[in-house]
Amino acid sequence: MAKGYSRRSALKRIAAAGAGFVALGSGYLLLRRRLGGGSPLPGAGGLEEFSPVDRTLGELASERFHGDDVERAHSVFWHLSEEEASPDEEVPVVVVGGGMSGLATAYLLRDLNPVVLEQAPRFGGNSRAQSWRGLNYSIGAAYLVLPDPGSELESFYREIGIDRIWRAADEASSTALLDSGQLKDVWHKFPGGRDVARARDLLREHFIDVLKGRNGQEYPEVPVPAGLGPEQRARLESLDGLSFEAHLREVLGGPIPPAVRRVIEQYCWSSFGASMSELSAMAGLNFYAGEFSGIAACPGGNAKVAEALVEHLHRDLPPGSLRPGCAATRVSLELGGGARVTYLTPAGTLRAIRAQRVVMACPKFVAARILKGLDPDRDQAFRSLEYRAFYVANALLDGKLPSPSGAPGAAETAFYEMFLMKGPPPAEGLGTAEASRAQGATDVISANFAQEHPEATVLTLYQSLPYTGGRPEALTADLSAVRARLERQLRAEVLPSVEMGSSRIVDLRVARWGHPLPVAKPGYLGSGLYDRLRAPFGGRIYFVEQDNWCLPAIETALGEALHWAPLIRESLKS
Ligand SMILES: Cc1cc2nc3c(=O)[nH]c(=O)nc-3n(C[C@H](O)[C@H](O)[C@H](O)COP(=O)(O)OP(=O)(O)OC[C@H]3O[C@@H](n4cnc5c(N)ncnc54)[C@H](O)[C@@H]3O)c2cc1C
Repeated sequence: MAKGYSRRSALKRIAAAGAGFVALGSGYLLLRRRLGGGSPLPGAGGLEEFSPVDRTLGELASERFHGDDVERAHSVFWHLSEEEASPDEEVPVVVVGGGMSGLATAYLLRDLNPVVLEQAPRFGGNSRAQSWRGLNYSIGAAYLVLPDPGSELESFYREIGIDRIWRAADEASSTALLDSGQLKDVWHKFPGGRDVARARDLLREHFIDVLKGRNGQEYPEVPVPAGLGPEQRARLESLDGLSFEAHLREVLGGPIPPAVRRVIEQYCWSSFGASMSELSAMAGLNFYAGEFSGIAACPGGNAKVAEALVEHLHRDLPPGSLRPGCAATRVSLELGGGARVTYLTPAGTLRAIRAQRVVMACPKFVAARILKGLDPDRDQAFRSLEYRAFYVANALLDGKLPSPSGAPGAAETAFYEMFLMKGPPPAEGLGTAEASRAQGATDVISANFAQEHPEATVLTLYQSLPYTGGRPEALTADLSAVRARLERQLRAEVLPSVEMGSSRIVDLRVARWGHPLPVAKPGYLGSGLYDRLRAPFGGRIYFVEQDNWCLPAIETALGEALHWAPLIRESLKS
């Protein structure tokens, strides 16, 4: 899936406190006690049982939606949030949610022996993967932005060993599939008349100016740096107050030609689950301008980053600290200090932990349900976010992916990402729902780009439902109908373009994500919404998750973890 980057330089600037992320926490309250009850802790199984990369599926997987287990999640959170249990443990930190944000926060605070509760059987959240014949492929988040040399983010990746396994993708790794075939270098060559060429060149220049901060442009960094001066902040708020589409029209001084609009629109559907007309220009530019910098993919996508974090935590934390299949059902401040987290174990019992600090690393729509005593203002802020659904289809193909040219000895994988743009652009006036349904999957990623394999190819098709109403549609969707539709597109468009026959298809596995992407709408920054989403509650409950900025990216998750972990640590000193 296309995804932009966030603010490379912002991460460089994040508080120097991050430099302490490997320091041990002597002087803090490291108490970890069992308060009675001898029942075993959940999550005592082996790493392979709860790793973000599922290697257990075999040649053919059972018929089901992968991704979110929607029924289970709904039955747990929606029915249990009034019930409480007596705490049988006391720990310094509990992290609710074992996605990228929660894992990174736990990693940064690992000397405090955090307990991580994850409702799904596997950690990773939207950054999960599977493996087929030893080839890892993402079922969600696919790639990351190469961090600036010397940045804090670069140190983080290096420290967990990710920089040794990723493969960088250059501009030529991204293609568009047009009626005329695959086209590399879309922003230089996208075909069309004079209006298309003009818009293409103007926008390309603009994106590069924004990325480089030249010709009066500024790169909108998200997470927004705390120390912005009032003028810079006002400029950012004004940018955020516009839709991405309105901003691009301003750049062009008029409408965006349909063919160019399609390029950006499909990117927005794929990256945000939203149309450029409803996204803030700050979010849109942060991702799209970032596309003109470098990206990298790991075997299995960003699940490999999550897996590296899980491995570190599994090794460094006391047994039973990582608790898969444990859904927090109620979180509340305790009268005497600290907070209580009640959770449902995989065995179906309710247990509770008392913690000095709780990190809510789950989405805000969950936090709104399970966090008790929230002030109405913040409760309303949490509930105001809109989320979008997603399908990801992994085509498992027998044999090696030939290069499109078929030239002997050519590179195994000629593209990393391919945007599907056959046929005419959507007719003017067609709504996003109709246009995106007609399009189906927007882009395809090759798992073989990051991991070569002699006899297996996995191509991943991404299709978001970028409109209000897409979520209930996904929830009630019939697996065979969704799969049949994606398979038609795979056979008719994708496979011919990579010179592979349909007989190569061994399996087509579809992941369904219920509400993985919050929509960054115009005006959130100026209205103070992001401040309300992020501010700690009662000085003891912190929020670290992509929703803090409505920006679905690994850089948001890691940026927020790097920002908040030192503050949580500091708060424990008092
Ligand atoms: C299809 C798809 C493709 C994407 N592609 C990219 C990409 O290429 N690059 C990129 O950077 N980003 C991508 N993203 C965005 C991705 O969401 C982020 O990169 C990142 O994984 C978000 O991590 P998070 O921890 O903030 O949120 P989440 O992944 O949502 O993690 C939240 C976690 O909380 C858990 N949880 C929820 N409720 C509870 C509870 N009550 N108790 C315990 N646990 C709970 C959830 O199960 C989940 O594991 C993609 C997203 C999707 C859906």
